[in-house]
Amino acid sequence: MKKVAFYTLGCKLNFSETSTISRQFEEKGFQKVDFQENPDIFIINTCSVTENADKKCKKIVKEAKKISPDSYVAIIGCYAQLKPREISEIEGVDAVLGAAEKFRLIELLDDFAKEQETKVLASEIQEARSFNNAYSINDRTRTFLKVQDGCNYGCAFCTIPLARGKSRSNTIESVLESAREIAATDVKEIVLTGVNIGDFGIVDGKRIERFADLVFALDEVEGIDRFRISSIEPNLLTNEIISFVAQSKRFVPHFHIPLQSGSNTILRRMGRRYLRELYEDRVSKIKTLMPHACIGVDVIVGFPGETDELFLETYNFLNDLDISYLHVFTYSERANTRATDMDGVVPMKKRNERSKMLRILSEKKRRKFYEENIGKTFTVLFEEDIENGKMHGFTENYIRVAAKYDPMLVNELKLVTLDHINESGNVEVLEPEMTYEKH
Ligand code: SF4
Repeated sequence: MKKVAFYTLGCKLNFSETSTISRQFEEKGFQKVDFQENPDIFIINTCSVTENADKKCKKIVKEAKKISPDSYVAIIGCYAQLKPREISEIEGVDAVLGAAEKFRLIELLDDFAKEQETKVLASEIQEARSFNNAYSINDRTRTFLKVQDGCNYGCAFCTIPLARGKSRSNTIESVLESAREIAATDVKEIVLTGVNIGDFGIVDGKRIERFADLVFALDEVEGIDRFRISSIEPNLLTNEIISFVAQSKRFVPHFHIPLQSGSNTILRRMGRRYLRELYEDRVSKIKTLMPHACIGVDVIVGFPGETDELFLETYNFLNDLDISYLHVFTYSERANTRATDMDGVVPMKKRNERSKMLRILSEKKRRKFYEENIGKTFTVLFEEDIENGKMHGFTENYIRVAAKYDPMLVNELKLVTLDHINESGNVEVLEPEMTYEKH
């Protein structure tokens, strides 16, 4: 029995895909092992957004060869699609597979017999047209379920359309089937995952379904307690979806909405499909219907043309907005994107300073959001995440809670009352025994 190990860089989508590919291996009789357990085969799933993707990829290959010098090393993922030749030159790499090939890895790599030359199987990205279903089952509490892939937008900074291709989706029927399969495994929460999930519904180049209808249908799936919409573009987060989530049985009041910039000048330069007024309107709609909702924001600092003044527009916009946390990205140049040819390059030092300012703002926002919810009662899904005798979990509105470890609580949903914020920044709950109720 050949042993195979996986390493994943990047986003939830990559994690769900690695997990699915690893199940393909297990079905074919391979043994899945940890990276250090002398695997015969290493599969490294790369990311193009990760800083220094090339260096990281080289480092992982080097480590792999140290552990098993005769192993077979295959590289897949976004970076493999963007730079297949470069990767094939890394010492120790046996095969590089692109976006259209990665799900046929076992069939294409012929028993993983080593050859003189590195195999490069990466078609043009236009070939990646089919949708490959994927979901992660690494941890029994929560699963990332891929419902959509690729993107038809062309934001000036983004390589994802080049690495993952055009927007395409699973069908509602097939997503429901996966959700039912997941429900049978005792997982309590599904996070819907994709590149641009609000654009869900394109199959074979034609729009046949809508994201809103997927949400309505999933809400009826028995056996899953929670669905979380991972991240959705503001222009695709409609009133219909927000109103539905507000009264839903299973969709939780947590939205992650990329903003990228709070300056309309920069949003236009980025080629985003909305202005800040629309974003403000989405936040206000959510908060009116769900005052306790958690809203996360992606923001990029240092995009070309972002003067001190325009950055302050973003800072002040976010400061005034009723949001709960930020994911801050420092802009960095990516080959073959429009932004690399733009003038107004922001010096790295400034980019880093701005990033620091927004990270501090994020902490302030998170704390304020947590404080607003102290004294209220929520449902926590406890995880197997134990630190210093404490276990952790998230409320439906994404507050990280700490409670005294109790093995009975792992993967259980419990009603708790939030008490105070502890030194680690998590929220402690009132004496759990007194507040627990069966969900
Ligand atoms: S919406 Fe823009 S940033 Fe998001 S994946 Fe598509 S092109 Fe990239």
